Amino acid sequence: MSEFTKMRVNLDRIQADVETLASIGRCDEDQGLYRMAFTDADIEARKWLLDRIDNAGLISRSDGAANIFGVLASDHDSPSLVVGSHLDTVPCAGSLDGSLGVVVGLECLRVINQAGYLPDRDVELVAFSDEEGRFGGMLGSEAFIGNINPLSIQHASDASGFSLSEAMLSQGLDPSKVMEARRNPSTIDRYLELHIEQGPVLDHKGLNVGVVDEITGLFRWNLKLIGESNHAGTTPMEMRRDAFMGLADFAHEIPRILDEIGSESARATVGQAEIQPGAPNTVPGMVAFTLDVRDTNQEVLEALKDAFHRALVVICRRRQLKFDMNEVSSIDPVRCDSEIIKILEEGVTELGLKALRMPSGAAHDAQIMGRQYPVGMIFVPSRGGKSHSPDEWTSWTDIEAGANLLLHAILKLTAQKQSLK
Ligand SMILES: [Zn+2]
Repeated sequence: MSEFTKMRVNLDRIQADVETLASIGRCDEDQGLYRMAFTDADIEARKWLLDRIDNAGLISRSDGAANIFGVLASDHDSPSLVVGSHLDTVPCAGSLDGSLGVVVGLECLRVINQAGYLPDRDVELVAFSDEEGRFGGMLGSEAFIGNINPLSIQHASDASGFSLSEAMLSQGLDPSKVMEARRNPSTIDRYLELHIEQGPVLDHKGLNVGVVDEITGLFRWNLKLIGESNHAGTTPMEMRRDAFMGLADFAHEIPRILDEIGSESARATVGQAEIQPGAPNTVPGMVAFTLDVRDTNQEVLEALKDAFHRALVVICRRRQLKFDMNEVSSIDPVRCDSEIIKILEEGVTELGLKALRMPSGAAHDAQIMGRQYPVGMIFVPSRGGKSHSPDEWTSWTDIEAGANLLLHAILKLTAQKQSLK
């Protein structure tokens, strides 16, 4: 292994790949990328990746969920180390979310292959399908771990009502094959993902990389408070059943509940609200809103659920409102593998990087993979904390630092046992 510890990624190749990918699905008007899952641009990016994998002398293949793989084969039959992220984007996206993890993973496998290093297990690069959620999110990684059923595939559709099946068929892909993407768990060892932070912490602190220790869990509710619409002039204040005032009370409870119950990583957001009937001279009879709550600790997340529910009950009793609640998603937090964290932190020291151990406040494919396999994540800084925007950027120095850290981890996790010191 020792002769290989000096191995480094080639930043020029990473830069060229990032730039090529950033031209696929770009809209000239707003400079954003439009590579939503199973659009022509998304398929073009996947074909480009397959080409790059072949070019690098790796084995290319795809599965029933249209996940793309590039395999660096070993002569051992041990479970694979999987490295990757996603190529699909949100509408009007930047060029690094997901793509960087795939490009950097590819470069690591390329450089390892060229150096003639023989890993003790196969290393598989993966680009997962529909991470960003045109059809719900994490389709590729959910299918990979077998957490998907034919009914959910049949019923999945995008915001405009276009179904997943139609979208796949229009690209010559067979939706009935998505289930076949499930991998036998005995064939997978660990999963590693490099991703942009998508938040301001690393940039603000002037650090090169983040070593993720926990990935946040979340629950999301669609809520309605129902009161009574009435005349804004003739209805006395004490006789109102004002749904908006209920929401105002609820919003006011958020900081108290987080302070009392949440951990340091706790977040709660009312991101959408609609007042009905929505006239300046009418007491609102109904308000529909969303609540998104996150925490890295499962018990805390459960306690937050209870607390927000209790707050709703109390407010509705006080203001004579009714409420209607619908949980639209619930994802458990994931703790990253302590062995991977240790290896990454050793790498930080060996490479002389400035790093921080930190939680991930955003969901990633690593979170899905983490339900079944040990996972680890590397963050690189997002300039100004910006993401899901054409302004999304990371300095090439930090990209190189993150890529070398990933390379270091791959080498450590695949070192032939007899040569381990
Ligand atoms: Zn992403």
